[in-house]
Amino acid sequence: DYIIYNQELVPRSEATIQFDDRGYYFGDGIYEVAKIYEGKPFAMDLHLKRLRSSAEKLDMAFPFSETTMTELLLHLLQKNNVKNGLIYFQLTRGVEPRNHLYTRKSIPVFTAFTQPSQDLKDMQKNGIDVWLTDDIRWLRCDIKTLNLLGNVMVKRESADNGCQEAILNRDGFITEGSSSNLFLVKDKVLYTHPATNLILNGITRQVLINLAKKYDYKVVEEPFPVDVLEHADEAFITSTSVEIAPIKSVRGQLSANFEVGPVTKDLQNKFKELLPKGE
Ligand code: PMP
Repeated sequence: DYIIYNQELVPRSEATIQFDDRGYYFGDGIYEVAKIYEGKPFAMDLHLKRLRSSAEKLDMAFPFSETTMTELLLHLLQKNNVKNGLIYFQLTRGVEPRNHLYTRKSIPVFTAFTQPSQDLKDMQKNGIDVWLTDDIRWLRCDIKTLNLLGNVMVKRESADNGCQEAILNRDGFITEGSSSNLFLVKDKVLYTHPATNLILNGITRQVLINLAKKYDYKVVEEPFPVDVLEHADEAFITSTSVEIAPIKSVRGQLSANFEVGPVTKDLQNKFKELLPKGE
């Protein structure tokens, strides 16, 4: 198993990181996770675009081009012989002595590794239970940063309550999941939070919205109050790792139950058709 450190492939067992990396002591960095199907990354162009946008929002330089980055990542997939799985890649602001004030002189450190993806069959077919709790994150959730404590803490809270995902309530409105975006369905119309500073604009979210519109579903991107959950026909989450997972129950600040409905199933099937196929 290999990893990438800057522009080199290194055996994982020999890989080291620098003690003075800002990513290590400030979480000063950004990342992406892309999914690999039959050896091919899905929507890599969108992931690279979002990484570039996260870098710009954080005044962080790119150490080399997207083309070089893609070549490196594809090389890693080949070397690790990944057919189906996930590729994680990140950029930190680089190595310099600890000081809140960054100098703009450090060179961002690029690292990447691959890992297996979880088995999704049961989740996608039967759905998940989600835990509604307060959104305790900062106000720049649109940036995919390494700083994930708000997400990490609510994920644990949801698991401790027997749920697979936390759904977040900011001032009475639903933003998204701890590592996913949320959609509601009512009378065949899809509802989801708009891509503002309060959510991460998921790649799966973007792909799904385009797909739904192509098949003449109406998509409303507006914030909705938490109690709307009680009146929805269907609900589901989206993310690179789970794709589309129906919600069967909401617990915590509010209770609601859903069937795995026809719109969710239809979109799951249409989404599967977009995924890279084997030869
Ligand atoms: N929101 C948050 C907070 C996330 O961490 C993620 C990704 N893990 C998503 C949404 C879904 O984004 P994507 O579809 O790009 O995986």
